[in-house]
Order: sequence, then C-alpha cells, then structure tokens
Amino acid sequence: MSKNQWRGFRKLEADELARLTFLGASGEVTGSSYLLETAHARVLFDCGMCQGERQSRAANERPFPFRARDLELVVLTHAHVDHSGLLPKLVRDGFRGKIHATGPSGELVGLLLRDSAKIHEQDTKSENRRRLRQGKKPIEPLYDADDAERALAKLVLHPFGQEVEIAPGLVVRFVRAGHILGAASVECWIRDQTFARKVVFSGDLGRKREPLLLPPEPPREADLVLLESTYGDRDHKDLDATVEELAQVLEKSVADGGNVLVPVFAVGRAQEILHYIGELERARRIPEVPVFLDSPMAVRATELYQRNADCFRLTGSGARCEAQEPRHLEFCRTPEESMALNERRGVVILSSSGMCEGGRILHHLRHNLWRESTDVVIVGFQARGTLGRALVGGARNVRIFGEPVAVKARVHTLGGFSAHAGQSELVEWVAPMIAAGARVALVHGEDEKRTALAAKLAERTRAEAWQPVRGERAMLRKRGEPVEFATA
Ligand SMILES: [Zn+2]
Repeated sequence: MSKNQWRGFRKLEADELARLTFLGASGEVTGSSYLLETAHARVLFDCGMCQGERQSRAANERPFPFRARDLELVVLTHAHVDHSGLLPKLVRDGFRGKIHATGPSGELVGLLLRDSAKIHEQDTKSENRRRLRQGKKPIEPLYDADDAERALAKLVLHPFGQEVEIAPGLVVRFVRAGHILGAASVECWIRDQTFARKVVFSGDLGRKREPLLLPPEPPREADLVLLESTYGDRDHKDLDATVEELAQVLEKSVADGGNVLVPVFAVGRAQEILHYIGELERARRIPEVPVFLDSPMAVRATELYQRNADCFRLTGSGARCEAQEPRHLEFCRTPEESMALNERRGVVILSSSGMCEGGRILHHLRHNLWRESTDVVIVGFQARGTLGRALVGGARNVRIFGEPVAVKARVHTLGGFSAHAGQSELVEWVAPMIAAGARVALVHGEDEKRTALAAKLAERTRAEAWQPVRGERAMLRKRGEPVEFATA
C-alpha cells in the first residue's frame, strides 16, 4: 500500500467514546463496510464486495483505507457477498483478528466465500489467457481458495440474542433480521467507566411476513441506527397475489404438459420458491408436480436451511424443514443429472443463475424457450443487460452460447417476492428507536431510494435522517449531543 493512501486510525478526541466511519454501501447498495473505533478496539462491521457496476472490479481491488493488520475484529451481519465478500482479501492483506457472526451465517458464508474464490480464480485464469495473447503481464486473482479458508478459520460463531463482549468495553448482540438464513441486526454497546452509547446496525432487513424465516426483531433503543434502504422508496406487491400467480402458472403447465423454468438465486429465493410450491401442494391448490433443484450451490444451501430448522417459524423444535418442500423434490448435483432433465416434460426446474447470466439455467433455457408449452417464471430482480432482463422485456429472439434461440415460451414476471423489507416495514422497524431518541443514518440504498425513505421518515417521525457518503463519520460523544455527524 502506498503511503498517500494510508489514512490511518486517528486518535479519538477527549470527549469521543467512539467513532464510526462509513466506508461502503453509502449511496449505493453493495460493498457494505463500516469502521468503528473505540479507545480499545478497531472493528469493521461487514466487509462486503462491490457488485454489479462496471467499476466494481476497481472498487474491490482498491486498498482498504486502513492497515488490515491494525484492525482487531470484524462483525458480520450476514453471509451475502456484498457484506462478506472481501473478507479473504482482508486476511490476505494481513488481518489477524477474529470474525464474529451467527452460527448459520458461519455455515452459509463458508459456502459463499469458497464459491466466490473459485469464481475469482477462474475469471483470472481466462483473463490471463487473453493477456498472454496480447503480450501483457498476468494478473493475480482478488483472492484465492486459500485466502477464503484462512478467513473462514477466523470465524467465531454466536447464537442469536446473546450479549458477547468482543473487546474491552464493547458488547454486541445479534438479533434476527429475517432476510436470509443467519441474517442479523447487530446491537453494539460501547462503554467506559462512566459513559455508554449504543449503535445498531440493521444489516439487511427481511420482510415482516416472510414464509420461512422468523421475522426481524427490532431493537428498542439506540443512540445511532444505521438503516438499510434498498427498497426505501416503495412497498412490495402483495405476496398472496404473487403466490396465486405462481399457482396459476403451475396449474396451467401441469394441464398442458410443458416445463416450468424458474431461474433462482441459490441462497434464499430457491428455498422460498420450494416452500411455496410445497405449500400450494399441501393446500391442494395445485396437483403434486415433479420439482428439480438443479444447482449444486442451491442444493447445498437448501441442506443448510434444512439443518437450521430453529431459524424457521413453521417447524417444531429440532424438526427438519423439509416438510415445507414439494412432495416430489429431487436434487441435481452432477452434470449428468442436470442433462437428464433435457428429456423430461411436465416438470418444474429451479436452476441458477438468478439473472440467467450463467450456470445450468442457460442449458434449460436453450432446450425449452422455443417450445410454446414452456413457462418461464421470473421471481427475482433482473439487472439491465442480462438475459433475464431481455426475457422480462419480451424479447422474441435471444442468443444462448452464441446460438440464436426463438422465444415461444410464456414469460411470467412475479413481482412480489423479495428478501428485503419495503418502505413501510423499514419505517415500522426504526420508528420506536427514533421515538426513544435515536439518530438515523441511511445506508445500503441508491440515492433516490434513501432520499425517498428520508422523506417518509420525516413525515412519519419528524426525524431528519442523515445520508452519509463514503468517508464521512459519526462521532459518539460522551456528553451533550450523543451523535455528531461529520463530512469527510
Ligand atoms: Zn443481504
């Protein structure tokens, strides 16, 4: 790291109990990272990767604005890579401390970081072949499988609801945030002999009415709350109506004998859709259908969900959550099992990637899109420029593996599934803390979303929410106004 990039940990002022610096997800959705400095510890809350935008590679390669070996601890809200994806890089750069997370997050982050390392290694290999032909020097991957393993070895796992002193005068408690398996909001108390302040990190908040996971548990009070604002500008479509749409598609496809293809994200959405199909079957709303989960990653994630039944609202103690799944569910792990599906008709196939940008779903789309009896069910967000977005937009011809494919299938876009709280749910989650005197900083949202959420909060609670940008800080004071915001 060159000298001029090193900004260093600055000493706290005499009346400062702690200082929080916004390092990522401040004015954007990905790359969550917030640095908390107290008299005794330097702690990073989340260490997320930037995703989606073209500049994200450069953003991920940018050196950390502190020396990794001077950081004592990391606290992880949940496993999604936009919150955890740079942990292996942090370890590669010299971080030697512990990473605190919930038990289920620890299992899930293992799955995701190993996969992420593999992707970085593969991408770098093909990039280097290109560079070699151009006479350029090879590049290194952002991190590799060893870095991921070394990061995972630093995990210290905690149950929900337990106060843990992770450093002198610094206590954290993970409380349920819904969203995905293991996801937590983190309550963080900073104390010295005389004074105490509390910061709450919302993490990503799920919906109040989530099919599988227990709902978010809002903390009651705080001096400062960092609130996510992914859907700060709106509420989601009605869930019951969305499930009914899914039922109609499945019903019709059973009647006409075609296949139903559902591109899914391996963690969260895949398990949710399996649950709804199972529920519709048990309610005899639809006939029982053969369902295939064709993604090794989604299969492993589903097994993790099954092993962590205590995170669910429906199962009794110790029960696996397979009761929530379709009666005729099969897991496809090997490529042969996946290819065997090419011969099947009248089946439901859930496969990744969720935006049809790679993975086994591409093979299924190539084999089925040109058939009129096929239904494609879009259940997640489709970014601009992806094949999934083209299908949603009504494209009649697409290219898959360089080959033109006619789209005769019916494409259904079901808008009501989301792993994130909508605007009203966000307001409801934070309002009691505001009423008890908390200041709010809006993070993890595009600017127009958090501006909309700030306006709604002002209307409902009269609170003025702060919208920090990267590098800005919040000081937690011992006396007087508990929180002071400062620009970079
Ligand atoms: Zn998330």
